[in-house]
Amino acid sequence: MDAGAVVFPRKPTRRIMVGDVPVGGDSPITVQSMTITKTADSEATLQQIYALAAAGADIVRCTCNEPEAAEGLARIVPRSPVPIVADIHHNYRRALEALEAGVHCLRLNPGNIRKPEHIKAVAQEAKDRGVPIRIGVNGGSLDESLYRQYGNQVTPEAMVASALQEIAYFEEVDFDLIKISVKASNVPLMIEAYRQLSEATDHPLHLGVTEAGPPPAGIVKATAGIATLLAEGIGDTIRYSLTSDPVDEARLGRVLLESYGLRERKNVDLIACPSCGRAEIDVYKVAQEAQDAFADRQIPLQVAVMGCVVNGPGEARDADLGIAAGNKRGHLFVKGTNVAVVPEDEMVSTLVEWAEFITREGMEAAMERAKATRDVARKAADEDRRRNLDDRGDDANATEQLVELLRKQRA
Ligand code: SF4
Repeated sequence: MDAGAVVFPRKPTRRIMVGDVPVGGDSPITVQSMTITKTADSEATLQQIYALAAAGADIVRCTCNEPEAAEGLARIVPRSPVPIVADIHHNYRRALEALEAGVHCLRLNPGNIRKPEHIKAVAQEAKDRGVPIRIGVNGGSLDESLYRQYGNQVTPEAMVASALQEIAYFEEVDFDLIKISVKASNVPLMIEAYRQLSEATDHPLHLGVTEAGPPPAGIVKATAGIATLLAEGIGDTIRYSLTSDPVDEARLGRVLLESYGLRERKNVDLIACPSCGRAEIDVYKVAQEAQDAFADRQIPLQVAVMGCVVNGPGEARDADLGIAAGNKRGHLFVKGTNVAVVPEDEMVSTLVEWAEFITREGMEAAMERAKATRDVARKAADEDRRRNLDDRGDDANATEQLVELLRKQRA
């Protein structure tokens, strides 16, 4: 089956607009991140917003924790290339100031702004301005009374109840431009809370594992939670919350959505073999060099780096373009067919040059270009394949000897 044909049906949700970016309904799932600068420092914050947008963020959140931050937002919003969400905790006045500053969305934490009259005042003002609000329930700051009500613990039910209670306040002022998150740092808890929330409401959902921590464990936790829900059709916008450069958050969000086929590919999807006893190059090093070379190029292709010509082109036959090493040469292949052979130290530069050619001229033009070299390339690949098999045999990983050794050790 064509991997691109597999789709995860999405649970229908309402659609809202965050500035000019649609969230929910059948709109593309969006990537969010958050600035870590002082919002009052509008120049530094804008620089970070530009970096986040370039890395794939569709929407960016900035804290609005003090009056100076709201003043910063008034300078930031007109110059931002993406919609801005103001993050509000504790003081509802900051929400009113952020709205006045022209933000495109608010995020309110129901555990931190508790007075119904304050919540309704913000919702009324947001309604008058047509600005949506994210109800951002957080397992770590759950409303105290709900915490007690649910047995002095944070449960999925308590988190959903907190979101529904907030929706009820909003409904009293007839406000429904809502998206919701029920984040927790505990992955199973977060997954179950979103599942229940998705049953209870059709408002669009913002997914995230809060305080996931530094990479690599943080990436694994965030991906486990977000990806599980996306595969179930739950989620309209996502954020990786990592203790790391927020640019990484934006990149990772984008990579996850692209790898799920939920967003069009913008950058290279680099695949590389894990290396084995048959490898004729340092696959990790060459793959890293290729990753660095493609990092800032907008090339929407799947590109493979393979350690040998024996299995490489076949193992990566679904890749648009790839290179496999053999006998100090790089064997370039397009869609699994050998098309050119180049010196080993030109492997990465050749990959980049052909990737740019395919992006610019198309795959057919690439095959046309390969006509002049493909017979020589095929012959060279056959020679190197045979040589590798002669040198390293059928069992390049010496599996039989290893199994025998392990058996002896266990005897
Ligand atoms: S057989 Fe070749 S392509 Fe496959 S993992 Fe080993 S080195 Fe890489």
